[in-house]
Amino acid sequence: MLYYKNMETLKGKAASGGIAVAPLWHIGNDITVVASNDTPEGLKKQYFSLKSRVRAEFRRLSSLSDKEDSSMTGLFESYSIIMDDPVFEEAVLNRINRGYSIHQAILESGTELSRIFEKLSDEYMQARAADLLSVAEELLRELSGRGKIDKPDGEKGPDDDGFIIVAANLSPARLMRIDKKLIKGIVLSGGTVNDHTSILAGNMGIPCVVAAGDRIFDQKEGRIIIDGNEGEVYLEPDEETIGKFIEKKLRIEKLRSDARQRIKQDQIKSEKSPIAVMGNISDPGDTDSVLLNEADGIGLFRTEFIYLKGDDYPTEDEQFDNYSKVLKMMGDKKVIIRTCDIGYDKAARYMNLPFEQNPGMGIRGIRISLEHPEMFLTQLRALYRASVYGNLMIMFPMISSLWEIKEAKKYCEKARKSLENEGISCKKVPLGIMIETPSAAILSGEFAKECDFFSIGSNDLTQYTTGADRINEDIEKYYDPVHPAVLELIKITAENAHKNNIPVGICGELAADTSLSEFFIKAGIDELSVAPGKIIPVRLSLIS
Ligand code: PEP
Ligand code: MG
Repeated sequence: MLYYKNMETLKGKAASGGIAVAPLWHIGNDITVVASNDTPEGLKKQYFSLKSRVRAEFRRLSSLSDKEDSSMTGLFESYSIIMDDPVFEEAVLNRINRGYSIHQAILESGTELSRIFEKLSDEYMQARAADLLSVAEELLRELSGRGKIDKPDGEKGPDDDGFIIVAANLSPARLMRIDKKLIKGIVLSGGTVNDHTSILAGNMGIPCVVAAGDRIFDQKEGRIIIDGNEGEVYLEPDEETIGKFIEKKLRIEKLRSDARQRIKQDQIKSEKSPIAVMGNISDPGDTDSVLLNEADGIGLFRTEFIYLKGDDYPTEDEQFDNYSKVLKMMGDKKVIIRTCDIGYDKAARYMNLPFEQNPGMGIRGIRISLEHPEMFLTQLRALYRASVYGNLMIMFPMISSLWEIKEAKKYCEKARKSLENEGISCKKVPLGIMIETPSAAILSGEFAKECDFFSIGSNDLTQYTTGADRINEDIEKYYDPVHPAVLELIKITAENAHKNNIPVGICGELAADTSLSEFFIKAGIDELSVAPGKIIPVRLSLIS
């Protein structure tokens, strides 16, 4: 970390990589309270009309994001669902009945319910707290007549060269309304790396630091620096530091564009890296960045996020739309779609899964599908229907016994046959498994005979090998992804895969650890699948 006189360096969390040097733009919530002395009945009518205006705005933003960033389309649809949620609606209407103003009723209901979400241990649900606040904010902005302001307009409004947004929090809806070309960076005093603002910033390629604390408001105007890779913010930077960061930014940009060029050329000359580099996605909207980063394919599509978006099981048609969209976009490149891995840290309320003392060891991975055959068959039918649009491979998560593979394959056959009987065509799809349990790694020789490919889920393989819960921050030091036992299990798996002539990949976070490139090459790993932003660094570490 650099220290200079007068300059303040703040540490937050790195939410989206890259460096930005630009004038700051403070965004407050600029919501004014509009008093009304109508009766509760009158206020309720006003509230319903307010909702329909906001719903129309969500629709507008949804179609806007359809054109510019399809990953956010579902978000604004989900905002409408949250706004109509009976629990939220009842909370607002009850308060109005008790004599609150519309403003107070929305504000208190949004805050109260989001606090409940924030306390849940599930990170996904925690991020929904931010969504609820965003919905409340949208209602309040519309109420105060400022719903559609989308340009910096204050007297300190930064110039046309762009700015770094500084705010306590920033809803994705608000971010969507600001001219993207002008946003050089975002720094928030609050927020989490998993909320949708961070995801949106990442998809838009905007450097972003969250949870940087209230001191970000110390500087009122002028240039600041943010380093989205390190999660650092530099207030009142001197000219020398500004110069250094501009230089660093240009260097990184040049390296990236050279790398992209080189990767393209190498691919043309067929001098590919010794290991294929693929991208991980959780939404069809992420496919653009996988392609932009010259990936060899998609090594992991975490389909459970489709199940987590809505209030009910996704239909076969909805799933078919999602899968076929990705397959079409990827052309003849491999697309490995993993069947639903809900459970443990990813819960869908509508499934009404029973309480478990130890959910990490419970109904998740392939178990959820085998315990819910209807759900499994619906997903498999959608996948087989989509298979004709590209190069699909289906993968089953968290396998620990041979019978599970055999059983899962029977369901595939059943789904395929049912389509055939209906005259719907589908392709022969390679079927593979994730190696995420020590039992699967140890028995990989036997399992390989039933599979067309393996992909090592190092995140879970680490937790089940070390016996350390991957989401418990207090035992982080026991959760060691490069534990010798984990590396040994990777070697065993690769050896057994090759003995049986099937490819083996890694799609957990370990795949992006460039210090292990040599180990991966020596172990004979065929594919590494990583977050889209990490594809180029991983590729470079393999070919240089
Ligand atoms: C893994 O466990 O490494 C993996 C890729 O699956 P997930 O992180 O979705 O559990
Ligand atoms: Mg896993």
